[in-house]
Amino acid sequence: MEPWHGLIKQYGYFLPVSEKTPVITLNEGNTPLIKASHISDIIQEEVNLYFKCEGANPSGSFKDRGMTLAISKAVEAGSKAVICASTGNTSASASAYSARAGISTVVLIPEGKIAKGKLAQAMIHGAMVLQIDGNFDDALEIVKEVVDKHPFTLVNSLNPFRIEGQKTAAFEVCDQLGGAPVCHALPVGNAGNITAYWKGYKEYQAAGESKSLPKMLGFQAAGSAPIVIGKPVKNPETIATAIRIGNPASWKDAASARDESGGVIESVTDDEILEAYKFIAEREGVFCEPASASSLAGVIKLSRKNFFSKGETIVCTLTGNGLKDPDSALKLSKPPVKIKADIGAVEDLLRGCCI
Ligand SMILES: *Cc1c(COP(=O)(O)O)cnc(C)c1O
Repeated sequence: MEPWHGLIKQYGYFLPVSEKTPVITLNEGNTPLIKASHISDIIQEEVNLYFKCEGANPSGSFKDRGMTLAISKAVEAGSKAVICASTGNTSASASAYSARAGISTVVLIPEGKIAKGKLAQAMIHGAMVLQIDGNFDDALEIVKEVVDKHPFTLVNSLNPFRIEGQKTAAFEVCDQLGGAPVCHALPVGNAGNITAYWKGYKEYQAAGESKSLPKMLGFQAAGSAPIVIGKPVKNPETIATAIRIGNPASWKDAASARDESGGVIESVTDDEILEAYKFIAEREGVFCEPASASSLAGVIKLSRKNFFSKGETIVCTLTGNGLKDPDSALKLSKPPVKIKADIGAVEDLLRGCCI
């Protein structure tokens, strides 16, 4: 078998590339689809739930799927520099792929609201990192103005190549399951990813690669749920910083994905997100970031309203790697116990624990 060589080579037939497109890849994609093993503890109905673990991508999030194509097309078009607004993962991914392509990156991030690992990634890959005293929506407005005036390529999901690359996650799910699931759940921030998955599922079905289409289930954080409440949120707040967005760029497309698929877009509270985040780590052995857990949080919420039927297959995308946000994990966990370097001290603590 040939080794995996990234999305563009794997799914090039479905992508806007030609022989002339220089392929800038870090061998992204081909991420694990893992069956949940303890889900019956929290969901009454017997469902087949899977996690699509996008934290296994090279820079640790699904953004790499869009970025391999966005950067390849930027290089094909002769671009020397890219720019983006980011809650963290777009900047991490853009920085990695442009480093590989040998072009420059400028990222605008909201000050103080970006997980440490993501900031470290942009910095070590050599991006110019600009922290603005505003939120993501402010940063995106500025970036859009910059690309109107200066020769930068925008690599936010407004760039259609981002969506094209990200739709391959739906292809993979179909390939891994032997068809589309009944429901696909994912977090919604700027709403590019739910748009991309829906596009992917439709194209794969049209090509005869899968028989059915899933219901798309999108979840926003309650303090940052413009699509749910039906108007932009001025000062979005949530612990799930990756989806702390008050005016999503792909709002309309996300609403179409919901309506065409017969799905829903709902909100989950920070407490519900954190409960799911802990469950996924403690019981399923997967460390994702808080925003990612909103997919499962939403499925748990819907299951309490008897949304699902017995035997249904549900896929939850876990969008990013937990290592990006160590602060959230540390805050939610018991601190290490400090003791003397002595076997007796260790044994004292072990009594009543596991021996
Ligand atoms: C970008 C991101 C999201 C939100 O995706 P959108 O396409 O903006 O809706 C969710 N989770 C993580 C970890 C992300 O990096």
